[in-house]
Amino acid sequence: MPFSAPWSRRDVLAALGASGLAAGCASAAGRLLAAEGGQAMRPIPMAEGGSVVQPRREVPVVANTQVLVVGAGPAGVTAAIAAKRAGAKTMLVERYGQFGGLWTGGLVLLVIGHIVKGGKQVCQGIGEEMMRRLEKLDRGICGRRPGVNPTVDAEALKYLMAEMIVEEGVDVLCHSWAVNAIMDGKTLKGVVVEGKSGRQAVLADQVVDATGDGDVLGAAGAEHERRVYNIGLPSRIALLDRVDKNASAKAKPPRNLGNISPIAGVNWVNMAGPDADGLDVRALSRLEMNHRRQIWKQVQEIRKAPGYEPVCLLETAPQLGVRITRILSGLHTLMMQDVKENRRFDDVVAVGGAWGCDHQEWHIPYGALVPRNVENLLASGRSISCEPRMADLIRVIPICFVTGHAAGCAAAMAVADGCKVRDVEVPRLQKLLKRQEAYLG
Ligand SMILES: Cc1cc2nc3c(=O)[nH]c(=O)nc-3n(C[C@H](O)[C@H](O)[C@H](O)COP(=O)(O)OP(=O)(O)OC[C@H]3O[C@@H](n4cnc5c(N)ncnc54)[C@H](O)[C@@H]3O)c2cc1C
Repeated sequence: MPFSAPWSRRDVLAALGASGLAAGCASAAGRLLAAEGGQAMRPIPMAEGGSVVQPRREVPVVANTQVLVVGAGPAGVTAAIAAKRAGAKTMLVERYGQFGGLWTGGLVLLVIGHIVKGGKQVCQGIGEEMMRRLEKLDRGICGRRPGVNPTVDAEALKYLMAEMIVEEGVDVLCHSWAVNAIMDGKTLKGVVVEGKSGRQAVLADQVVDATGDGDVLGAAGAEHERRVYNIGLPSRIALLDRVDKNASAKAKPPRNLGNISPIAGVNWVNMAGPDADGLDVRALSRLEMNHRRQIWKQVQEIRKAPGYEPVCLLETAPQLGVRITRILSGLHTLMMQDVKENRRFDDVVAVGGAWGCDHQEWHIPYGALVPRNVENLLASGRSISCEPRMADLIRVIPICFVTGHAAGCAAAMAVADGCKVRDVEVPRLQKLLKRQEAYLG
């Protein structure tokens, strides 16, 4: 069935694995799958003294793929589409049930960093294709004009990314959190995922880490740095179109009104937040509590301003805004000096722009994606190899598109050529990227 067609009851049953109409919804709801319990089904952790011991156990292999992309944010979705278009059997693993990462789940709606001085757009390829398709969707994107940073709607984007992944024929495993790397010496062979189905193994010829936090590269023992950075929580406020303009004109406008979104009367509100370790769940838990309280109070303050009484909090992002955590120490580390000096690299695989569309383009070399000491692994998105001063340039959405695009193509080429990712022939990789409409300067 085409993904875009409306779902009938029969389609729903088929998707659930029920055989035809005979298996009605009522009986499917309580259908017995297995009787469990009474006796441990598999080796379980044992309390021993003050610690807990996990016994040795076999992990079922659920998939064996050529390219495995872990994480379905802007980098991961782009990498998976690129790898599949380049001819590799591709699987996309995601811990949540939706695509987009911080772009959707984190309500980071403003797309910055793809335009340079003079209004030229340098981030092209699959990310740009997504933006073009968003334009055709009802209230999918606003402010998409030459030289301007556009704002997207998260729901339109979730829908579109799922459409594109399904159209492409990428195999999807959602609700699966990559918790460990499967290694043969220094060679990555796949990942262990954990979810409601238990612990499972996914084997792969090549793996792209698109988790944002470098979870795979960390587990695989790739050299990397751990950094702290601001952690915030974006939100959306609504009913701004009902503000009484006569009343509001007489007073100073309230703070934290945010910026427009594609939906009339709805603004998205960014938050910087304090520096914290995005890999420390205690710290993350505290921030979840604090940030939601702060946002609620902010909105109550807005409502006290003359004319702003109707405004309400529409939603806080379901996902905390973690900006930077693990950063690969790759074959090449991108330096701010490279950007300032407009340095060109022979192994350029992506080109970045500027936050305020106000400076020149800068080049991203393939070496920034390749680990020094682990084989069969590529970094992408906000964890590629760069010095701390580069964090704000590499982590923005269009740069994640283009590094994801490069990683997906490189992984597929390594599979086709039967070589290590560090040995991929870069001129051929560049040709492949250009065929997929990437801009390389
Ligand atoms: C508060 C905030 C404001 C920002 N503002 C802007 C802005 O205005 N404009 C802009 O362009 N950029 C902005 N950014 C940056 C941008 O949103 C992110 O850097 C970008 O989304 C990173 O993309 P990514 O694909 O590398 O990672 P992410 O978007 O983080 O996606 C990673 C994906 O991997 C999944 N995942 C993570 N770990 C695992 C695991 N172990 N197993 C399986 N799946 C996993 C996640 O669920 C997610 O789907 C902002 C970021 C924040 C936090």
